[in-house]
Amino acid sequence: MKNEGFPVKKTLEEFDFEFQLSIDKKVIEDLATLRFVHNAENVVLLGPPGVGKSHLAIALGIEAVKAGISVYFTNTGNLIERLKLANREGMLEKKLRDLMKYKVLMIDEIGYLPFDEEGAHCLFQLISRRYEKCSTILTSNKSYGEWGEIFKDHVIAAALLDRILHHCTTINIKGESYRLKERKKQGIKTVNIYQ
Ligand code: ADP
Ligand code: MG
Repeated sequence: MKNEGFPVKKTLEEFDFEFQLSIDKKVIEDLATLRFVHNAENVVLLGPPGVGKSHLAIALGIEAVKAGISVYFTNTGNLIERLKLANREGMLEKKLRDLMKYKVLMIDEIGYLPFDEEGAHCLFQLISRRYEKCSTILTSNKSYGEWGEIFKDHVIAAALLDRILHHCTTINIKGESYRLKERKKQGIKTVNIYQ
């Protein structure tokens, strides 16, 4: 699994849909048919930390791998840094072309860190390039309405969202963190680290 960049292995079978009732299992099962990949559509998983966004993104990626589809999983911060580096070396074009070889690109954790102007520009180029050609799976702890803050530039955020959402399934996950549930089960009291 090294080549695909998955930080850990997570499967759909391991996902407890009973715990996360805000997710329609049928929608995930439909995504697992990989029709979205063949149609070059996108998937966006939104929700607070610990609700299974990365788990589901990885699990869908693994389904694609099993079907012989080329996939790549990356964290947003890493991806942006690499794109910016390529941009400065006059290699952005090549880098974007290279990334097109992945029929599914998973970009995890959009919104944890804001983008600077160059980062936003690079991500916009990437999404524009993939639009209607290859699938992208994104995860974010920010709602679409808050994406403007991540980009600082609301115009570029709107243009980017317009392209992502044109052919897209959004999974809006609400509810409790699975990590928190596990901690509670172990009887570990949660402390507020900010106090
Ligand atoms: P997020 O990306 O939304 O912050 P993760 O996908 O990393 O959350 O989930 C946190 C941890 O909890 C991971 O170990 C994940 O496998 C597990 N997890 C989350 N939701 C579920 C679930 N519904 N069933 C089984 N494991 C889950
Ligand atoms: Mg995550």
